Amino acid sequence: MPSSVLWLPRDGDVLALYVLDPALWGPAGGPRRSYLLRSLQAMDASTGGHLHLRRGDPVEQVVRAAAEVSAAAVHVAADFGPYGRRRDAAVERALAARDIALVRTGSPYAVSPGRVSKSDGEPYSVYTPFYRAWREHGWRAPAADSGELRWTRAAGAQRLPAEPAPPGLALPPSGEEAAQRRWAAFRDSGLAEYADTRNRPDLDGTSQLSHHLKWGEIHPRTLLADLTTRRGKGVETYRKELAWREFYADVLFRRPDSAREHFRPDFAAMRYDDADDRLAAWREGRTGYPFVDAGMRQLRTEGWMHNRLRMVVASFLVKDLHVGWRHGSRHFLRWLRDGDLASNNHGWQWVAGSGTDAAPYYRVFNPVTQGLRFDPAGEYVRRHVAELRHLPGAAAHEPWEHPDGYAHGYPRRVVDHGVERVEALARYAELREA
Ligand SMILES: Cc1cc2nc3c(=O)[nH]c(=O)nc-3n(C[C@H](O)[C@H](O)[C@H](O)COP(=O)(O)OP(=O)(O)OC[C@H]3O[C@@H](n4cnc5c(N)ncnc54)[C@H](O)[C@@H]3O)c2cc1C
Repeated sequence: MPSSVLWLPRDGDVLALYVLDPALWGPAGGPRRSYLLRSLQAMDASTGGHLHLRRGDPVEQVVRAAAEVSAAAVHVAADFGPYGRRRDAAVERALAARDIALVRTGSPYAVSPGRVSKSDGEPYSVYTPFYRAWREHGWRAPAADSGELRWTRAAGAQRLPAEPAPPGLALPPSGEEAAQRRWAAFRDSGLAEYADTRNRPDLDGTSQLSHHLKWGEIHPRTLLADLTTRRGKGVETYRKELAWREFYADVLFRRPDSAREHFRPDFAAMRYDDADDRLAAWREGRTGYPFVDAGMRQLRTEGWMHNRLRMVVASFLVKDLHVGWRHGSRHFLRWLRDGDLASNNHGWQWVAGSGTDAAPYYRVFNPVTQGLRFDPAGEYVRRHVAELRHLPGAAAHEPWEHPDGYAHGYPRRVVDHGVERVEALARYAELREA
């Protein structure tokens, strides 16, 4: 995580330190671990092999490294997640006891969580007014290049562990250069059309920068600064999407409990099922709904899923299979290369209805019409679901309508969406009455 990259200046020298924290490493999941290691390799190369890696308790390891190089200060990007805040506060106390300052140099956001508030000081819990206030608040220009740094070394560095990506999963290039290249390509050839293409998983219509943002390989201010010199619907829409990331970070900062608990406490009374077999079918992409299964299989092969699919598969789990969102958010965090507690768990809560969705009704996505609308020629489904490749065009979305639809072993539907939609609405009505 970017917040664990520490700089320890001593007489102008800098030690680039990264602590692999077992508390995060264990639960991170193969794709994220593997991506992080590649990112660290790229950083090591960019510092001429000076990245100093340690494993263990961050308090112990940072203090030890700082003492070894007689550091005057430890610089870190501020972390706003519940665990990161506690950890950094503990590191700060331990350093202070040795007269070493912990300096939070910026954060992974354009506007740090906690800075945008309503006029009465209360936090926003709805995106659109947050967005307006966020824009009005504004942000600084990206930090200037710090020039050539004089790297130093310390004893006790450990080697990067090996963590190959899980079988069948292909990860994109990582590191700052890869992020800059991807941004330049998207900015120059995708941004203008973004408002029209961003909902189409069959097209390469989004920036695919989420993992670079997650791991601190590019800063949102760099992207926002580039947007100021451009005009058009795509530019405005892209700025709004970046603001969702900032909004969810702010919501989580203000309500750390919402990482695990329902943001709307009344949802504690919502009835969910223990449906292990259905949950397994969903995880493995064999629900019998082609659009849903394509999304779940993309997750397993790329460690990424298009945003439209994240909404559709989340809705399917919670509102068609009646499984609580926490099961889904855990699975996502295990498999997403961009897995981020704030964006993920609040994305899930938004879909589940227990979060910040401001819609006055209970939204239930139709997995078939969503597919027909956003993947009109069935290309996305055929790309990810081999058993449906024989069905041409939009037919791939409805194998049950074709005599040879199941000829290659595609599974039958685990539930009837029409029936489950009614059931989901009934459960919501029960909750409201309660
Ligand atoms: C159930 C669910 C879970 C999600 N989990 C994550 C997660 O773990 N990590 C994550 O980064 N995003 C998550 N998202 C948000 C979104 O799906 C991804 O950020 C997006 O698909 C990444 O692809 P991209 O970079 O091509 O996005 P683009 O469309 O190019 O958007 C640009 C950037 O804006 C931000 N962004 C866009 N949409 C959202 C959004 N709805 N919420 C927050 N930020 C957004 C991302 O940083 C993204 O990289 C989730 C959404 C849902 C519905």
